[in-house]
Amino acid sequence: MLVPAGCDGPVPSGELNAEVSSTTARRIHGGDDLATDIHSFSRPDEARVKRLELELTVDFAAQRLSGSARLQVAVAPGATRLVLDTRDLVIAAVRAEQPLKFTLAAAQGDFGSAMTIELPSAGSGGGSGASGAAAVARELWIEVDYATSPGAAALQWLAPEQTAGGKSPFLFTQSQAILARTWVPCQDSPGVRMTYGARITVKSPAGGPPLLAVMSASNPQRAAADGVYTFDMPQPIPSYLLALAVGDLEFRPLGPRSGVYAEPSVVGRAAAEFVDLESMIGAAEKLYGPYRFGRYDVLVLPPSFPFGGMENPRLTFATPTILAGDRSLVSLIAHELAHSWSGNLVTNATWNDFWLNEGFTVYFEHRIMEAVFGDEFEDALAVLGLQDLEKTIAELTEGGLVRDTWLRLDLTGRNPDDGVTEVAYQKGARFLQVIEKTVGRERFDRFLRSWFDGNAFQSRTTDDFLGFLDRELLAGHADWKTAIAIPAWVDGPGLPKNCPRATSTALARASAQMQRFAEGARASTLDVNGFTTQQWQHLLRQLPATASAAQFADLDATFGLSKRGNSEVLFEWLAQSVAHRYEPAFAALEHFLTSQGRRKFLKPLYLELSKSESGKALATRIYAKARPGYHAVSRDTIDGILKWGK
Ligand SMILES: [Zn+2]
Repeated sequence: MLVPAGCDGPVPSGELNAEVSSTTARRIHGGDDLATDIHSFSRPDEARVKRLELELTVDFAAQRLSGSARLQVAVAPGATRLVLDTRDLVIAAVRAEQPLKFTLAAAQGDFGSAMTIELPSAGSGGGSGASGAAAVARELWIEVDYATSPGAAALQWLAPEQTAGGKSPFLFTQSQAILARTWVPCQDSPGVRMTYGARITVKSPAGGPPLLAVMSASNPQRAAADGVYTFDMPQPIPSYLLALAVGDLEFRPLGPRSGVYAEPSVVGRAAAEFVDLESMIGAAEKLYGPYRFGRYDVLVLPPSFPFGGMENPRLTFATPTILAGDRSLVSLIAHELAHSWSGNLVTNATWNDFWLNEGFTVYFEHRIMEAVFGDEFEDALAVLGLQDLEKTIAELTEGGLVRDTWLRLDLTGRNPDDGVTEVAYQKGARFLQVIEKTVGRERFDRFLRSWFDGNAFQSRTTDDFLGFLDRELLAGHADWKTAIAIPAWVDGPGLPKNCPRATSTALARASAQMQRFAEGARASTLDVNGFTTQQWQHLLRQLPATASAAQFADLDATFGLSKRGNSEVLFEWLAQSVAHRYEPAFAALEHFLTSQGRRKFLKPLYLELSKSESGKALATRIYAKARPGYHAVSRDTIDGILKWGK
């Protein structure tokens, strides 16, 4: 019997899991503790997905993925249902050995619709018998036939003209934080891990080159004439790391286990930019143990990718805005690589624990950069990072969101994307630095390695970490605990007093030059010889509020700032131009906003523009043109800033 959505009697309204308390973890079958995830409808304590087998056809003309998801499910004794997260999916049928009844609850905004599948009763032939785990009554495979909607938020379908090559369409996914449910029916919670396999069929448009499909899994290195690709991800990962990209892609090896994928016209530049990748992997392994995912490749996406990078396992997705030509922005790759330990290996159990992913990763990223490029480079990154953090804390506090400046977040009822701020990243990293400075680096490195080893392929809460910290590192050292001041960092606002502050002689040099400029020196007399990206960023950030239009014109004429190809330097220049209403730079601003979709750059520029009537009018005009080219993640943010459609 086929049961279409909504035809099976009254539709229950899906209930997001209520937060019991951050310290309460529910014991579930299979021997793991699962924290309650308030951003998922799923009930993994009743029936839990262990493996996913995707069989999907990529249809560019219809902008649709269609096919099936087979889910291997471990069912707890007495459980009668499997609850999945879905959003905007068109479900055709569900079956085990026979068709199964299911209901789709009414949609709840970004959280989507709970899908409840009635499990066949035990002994009806649907199960495959008990597995080894004591609390698992049985395991079974459930197959869901479905298709995505054209507006699926995880998927961005690019027209050929939105790519570097201009000839072939492109598709990429972005599943973090809760968008996997828009392209795969799954238990969309970072606390649920599964292995996966996939068979992806690509219908390449006639006349163009065969398109290559790649995933966060074992990957092909060249396009197949028949357009059929198979993948395997044998390590258990959470759903937000499911990823797929399809396009006219070429592969270049960088080392024995690393390489880069990009469009043919970009792949050479990308390979040159990432030449240090293999030594970064080596530096990371030396710090915190072996890389456990096999290969580490990087995919450079078209410019609309909303993030700097996304740590999809085995295949980091990266923005082309890091191709500076001088390797100065590769810290982003160090960051995504570091996620292979913090995030992908040991994962935040809920989005309220997001700092466990990002704070650890920024700390680790800085350690990799220090090991490969030296102290001076690291110090500059640290100083700039702290500037970003202090600005974010001030903005959140002024905006009435001081609670969002705690490391342990409370995102009840909100999209977990609201937690993506410098607090998780930079405050989290500073907290780990405080611990390092208190106990000593060697001891702290040993401790971190044991955290990664002891919790590998598990999802963990803030309390899990604090408990581990207390037991394994701080026990018997009351003085250390006092010095670190854990509650002030984890459950308190802003920046605690013991926050370490790096100094950078390179950046001090940039400050000195800006000081001279502010006091009236001509731009042409400034000593910027050999300035790095970070020195330029710092110099521009120090521009005084009183800088005149003539001074802006002098800087631009002397240093060609409006024409910079380095995205970070150009961004700082444009941010200052907007803040000072320096209109001659607005043509460059418009080009920047319409030629890439990285949210980190878009958000502050639109926000600053929206502060005045004329700025808002300009922002609205530019956004109308740019919006169709942005990913839904960026659109959501800018829609909110400009009250788009309201
Ligand atoms: Zn990250």
